[in-house]
Amino acid sequence: MNNCTLCDAAITLDNQTEEHVIPQSIGGHLKIKNFICRRCNNKFGHSWDNILADQLAFFSTSLNIIREKKLPSYLVTDIDNKQYLKHPEGDFFLVRPVTNVDSNADGSLNIHIQAPNQKIAKQILKKVSKEYNLSDENQNLMLKSLTNKISPMDKVIKGEINFGGEESGRSLVKTALALAFTMDIDLDQCDLAKEYLLNSGTPCFGYFYSPNRDFVKNRNKNIPFHCVYIKADSQLGRIFGYIEYFGTFRVVLSLATNYKGETKEAIYCIDPTSKQTIDLKLDLDLSDDDIERIYNYEIYDLDVYQESIGKLLDKVIFQSKINNLNNRFSEAMEAWDKEKTYEENISNAMKYLEPHFKEILKLT
Ligand SMILES: [Zn+2]
Repeated sequence: MNNCTLCDAAITLDNQTEEHVIPQSIGGHLKIKNFICRRCNNKFGHSWDNILADQLAFFSTSLNIIREKKLPSYLVTDIDNKQYLKHPEGDFFLVRPVTNVDSNADGSLNIHIQAPNQKIAKQILKKVSKEYNLSDENQNLMLKSLTNKISPMDKVIKGEINFGGEESGRSLVKTALALAFTMDIDLDQCDLAKEYLLNSGTPCFGYFYSPNRDFVKNRNKNIPFHCVYIKADSQLGRIFGYIEYFGTFRVVLSLATNYKGETKEAIYCIDPTSKQTIDLKLDLDLSDDDIERIYNYEIYDLDVYQESIGKLLDKVIFQSKINNLNNRFSEAMEAWDKEKTYEENISNAMKYLEPHFKEILKLT
């Protein structure tokens, strides 16, 4: 066994840990051993990866990525500043309860309760029943129809995309180092990367959006892939890296300035929504001048960035319609009543499904 890449402690059976090359929280599956010790993984690895995962959580949740651990619920706000928890299955749940009471022309009341969970909804119902003197029969009817789900979501959800910063940058650099580790590159040579991770040195990465250069040679714009690529170049004495998450967030890294060793390259690319590995071709043709310009945000074309984000959001919207249809299908099946005829059941089920078929067809 070797020493920890970060703290240099000897890795033993006691402090051995498995580390994901791409964080599992955003859908990475490839694991390596003996890269860093358990202490460093707990102390640094998790916090860096968590910040990156938080920044990308909207996309991880919305695109149904496949992870080892279940996806957490995600807090969103609509344009009226009402908060919802978006569950990984795609439905939205209110964070704070809302009660609406409308009176009809004939004097009867329409009472509508929305609450984060059944328990709170029942408490509100109790209060409302007292206030409006609801009969037991009416209360029971309402109890049956209580729902905490907002489906379909018809409010515009506010979104904020803030990918970047030094902490999530450390997660990126660690991911690049992890791939270099699998290539048997002596990581002690990765001076820039280690200086940044351990001593708060200058960030050794920058974002890359160019209108006339794409390092990915066989880009499939329909797949929100994650990739990490390393090229160790003996002639230039450099180790460069490239990371792209969700086929959108593109980062160039420079790990070493004084590399002595063979020229080699490696790539790891997956579709986090299917777990499939992808045969991605990359050509990372970079000069020192390019690196300088990338670090100074000079190869950051806003149109290219926005087009790429737009493509990703199209996928998010499409996936949310599919999730919605799946959920309505489950509801339709739950409402299936064996006492009724097949035709009656189908006609009832179509009430759940039909509006959503139309939505899906609009998109395809
Ligand atoms: Zn360590």
